[in-house]
This record gives sequence, structure tokens and C-alpha cells, in this order.
Amino acid sequence: MTQQDDFPFGKNAKARRDLSDLLLALYLFVFTHVVAAKAFRALPGKSALRFAWENRCTLCATCFSLIRMEPIDGKTRTEFLRAQLLRPFSVLADFLYPPACSVCGISTGGHRGLCAKCWSGIRFIERPYCEVLGIPFSHDLGTGILSAEAIAHPPPFDRLRSAATHDHAVRDLVHGLKYRDRTDLAPMMAAWMLRASDGTVESCDALIPVPLHRTRMLTRKFNQAAELARHMARLSGKPLLAATLVRVKRTSQQVGLGAKAREDNVRGAFAIAKGCENDIFGKRIVLVDDVYTTGATVAAASRTLRKAGAAEITVLTFARALSEPI
Ligand SMILES: [Zn+2]
Repeated sequence: MTQQDDFPFGKNAKARRDLSDLLLALYLFVFTHVVAAKAFRALPGKSALRFAWENRCTLCATCFSLIRMEPIDGKTRTEFLRAQLLRPFSVLADFLYPPACSVCGISTGGHRGLCAKCWSGIRFIERPYCEVLGIPFSHDLGTGILSAEAIAHPPPFDRLRSAATHDHAVRDLVHGLKYRDRTDLAPMMAAWMLRASDGTVESCDALIPVPLHRTRMLTRKFNQAAELARHMARLSGKPLLAATLVRVKRTSQQVGLGAKAREDNVRGAFAIAKGCENDIFGKRIVLVDDVYTTGATVAAASRTLRKAGAAEITVLTFARALSEPI
């Protein structure tokens, strides 16, 4: 019996795949040829007839390739059909929710982007900077140069990297994610953080978000640091350890406190969850947070990780409170 003979009752994987392709093709035929033409009748500047004709053309090329069971555009038929299957939804979504700037909301060419004005207001943090604290230098002083601050007060982590300074559009993005539940911003923010991570995510063993206390989780629904870490884990393929580091002390909000008060506030606030010690011992950890202000929170978290035997700790934040480059 050949592979074709038992189709469509599918005892083998190929037959099942072909059957699912056939069903997808049927869906495409119905949606693109019939439903979309009716649904988009009211589309401004485009008659239903023209819309149907344009889509019929695309589909017929697809149908032809499908009938001949050939790969299309270097994709397998299943991959291609999946993309086509989702296309009507993205067209509909763009119609209902046109792409807009993530900060100011004016219309843009694509989703998850910023308009030119908002984009130009962002100060990305790039070299030359202090190798430990990541503070930008106004002049290139050579490789491996540290800031006076890093020499005078060495932090409990190995290095700090941030995507951008905490002002203008960056502040709006941080507030959007944290206070307005704009979790749709997290993938873009995570991608910027990965670029700023200076290869440390690539070489790390795990990503750990700065945790919230469980009572705060109740009022906030989600942890913005965990949301950023989750998308970075997805983009980089690195493990996310969201429950390894826990906040054992309910601290008051850091906003409005001075540097000393912030330090006292978070002292002893973190611990390693019982049974998770091996997640940390000897491991290279990237500790993720949304904003770095005085660094009291990540310093306290880093001390806990260090005590548990972490081999290397990189603090990675989206935004960084900074004045001018030094
Ligand atoms: Zn904008």
C-alpha cells in the first residue's frame, strides 16, 4: 500500500497533514472568496467586487500550488497555509484597530512601533559607558573604563545594562505597562532590552524577574518585570525562573523615598524559594526589572542571589534614571 492509498483515513502523519491542509484550503476558499467580499463591502475606496477579485487572484495561485502539493515561497504547505489562515484576521484586526504609535497613538505604518517624533525623543544607552554601571560617557576613554561611582561603591551585581534613559516616550512606555495594563507593549520593550543586554542574556543560565509581594500581585494583576522577562525568555530561548526569587517582606512603594530610605525599605525583602537553591548555585543570572532608579531594589535582590551562590549577576532594566552623560 502506498502513502496515497490510505488517504484520507490517515494511518500515517503525511496523510493527516494533507487532510489538515485540505481543510485549511477549504476555509481559505470560503473566507477569501465569499465571506470577505461581503464583509468588506463597506470598505472605503474599494468596491466589494474589486476586493473579491484581488483576493481571488492570490488565492488561485495558492490553490494551484496546493493542488500540485508543492512548497510555496520556501515554506512547507502547512506553514504557508497557517500564514494564509491568519491573514484575514490580521486584515480585519488592522481595519478595526489601525496600527498606531505605542506612545502617542497617532497612526503609523505597522503595529508595535513608535512614530518618528516619539522615536526621536528616545535616548538609547550605547557605548561608550561604564562597564559595571552602564553609565554613558560623553567621550570614549578606551575599553574597560569604570565610572568613579562604580569604583567608590562597587554594586553587589556584576554589571547593569539598560535599554534607554527614563524620560519622554520611555517613561510613557514604562507607565503604560505598569499602571495601564498595556501588556501589548512588553514584546517591543523586551526586544530593546535584549539588544541592550550586551550578549549577557545569550550567555546566561536563566532570567529572573524582580518579584512583587503576593499581596501586591492581587491588586496589580501582573508583575511588569516578569512580563518583560517572559518575552525575553521567549525571544532568546533562555529559561525563565519566575518563582525562584520571592519577595518575603511587603515593602512600601519606593517612589518618593530618598536613597537611604529606599535601601532600608528593601533590606531583607527577598529570599530564594524553598527547594529552588540549585536554580541559583553556580549559575549566571540575568535579573530583570522595568526601571533602575537608585538601584536599592535590585541591589537587595542581587545580595540574596549572591548569598545563594550565583556565579554571575547581570541586572537588565528597560529604563534607567540618568541625568546627562558623564
Ligand atoms: Zn508617537
